[in-house]
Amino acid sequence: MKNNRFFPKMDAVGEMPKSDRTAWLKGGAFTCKVPPRTPLDKPWRIVLIGAPGIGKGTQAELLSERLGACHLSTGDIFRASKCLQPSEQSPAIKEAMALMKEGKLVSDTTVLNLVRERVGCMKCSGGFLLDGFPRTIAQAEALDNLLLSEKVKLSVVFNYELPVETIIARISGRRTCSNCKAVYHVATRPSSVPGVCDHCGGKLVQREDDQPEAVRVRMKTYAESTRPLIDYYKKQKLLVTIQAEGTPEEIYQRTRLLALTL
Ligand code: AMP
Repeated sequence: MKNNRFFPKMDAVGEMPKSDRTAWLKGGAFTCKVPPRTPLDKPWRIVLIGAPGIGKGTQAELLSERLGACHLSTGDIFRASKCLQPSEQSPAIKEAMALMKEGKLVSDTTVLNLVRERVGCMKCSGGFLLDGFPRTIAQAEALDNLLLSEKVKLSVVFNYELPVETIIARISGRRTCSNCKAVYHVATRPSSVPGVCDHCGGKLVQREDDQPEAVRVRMKTYAESTRPLIDYYKKQKLLVTIQAEGTPEEIYQRTRLLALTL
């Protein structure tokens, strides 16, 4: 693997507006009102893997700000669907939301239908950061086929690793903006005003699936269904493993140094 791409130390593009991700969150014929920024180099197309609560969402935000690529989280699609009226929710979405509440995986068929409906995001000139997808080998194979048919290639897969006890501590302090989905932590990444999002003023909440019982199920599911992706991407020579301890900035810089050696 030889990327030789630009990977900035800090934010290289300053205060440029972030893409509003409408195409990803709503799917179908929707397009982004604020399109992604044009990357300073070739677009990055990245998959992030790691146990729930390891900080993928936070890294995805930092990477998105600095590389310009759009943060595409399948979990965010389901969370966004919660705001729809029940009559607007398809049976598949209703079922997905019930499974999600318990910390269980949504079926591959439902997830893949959602991703296929958003195929435009895969070939977007801004690039992408997939967070929470793929989560099973079947999803990874389907993603490979989708990218092949769209003639785009993954740049790299970042795999974040951390001991389980540290992950549990991270999850219990995590808060998410109910409006823009920005991620905070009460101890390590607090908002300026407690309970209020720095970006949009939205209310910060604890996700239902961050409750202890749901976390236990999510950890087990990760070990059984998602960890096998590590070998899958190692075989494709796309995998870069990063120790996820430290502050978000330290983890970003570690990610960057490893990416520069690609
Ligand atoms: P996340 O925000 O990535 O932790 O996702 C939250 C929840 O959404 C997960 O616990 C699953 O219930 C569901 N989900 C998100 N992405 C996927 C996926 N790729 N496959 C199956 N279920 C998913």
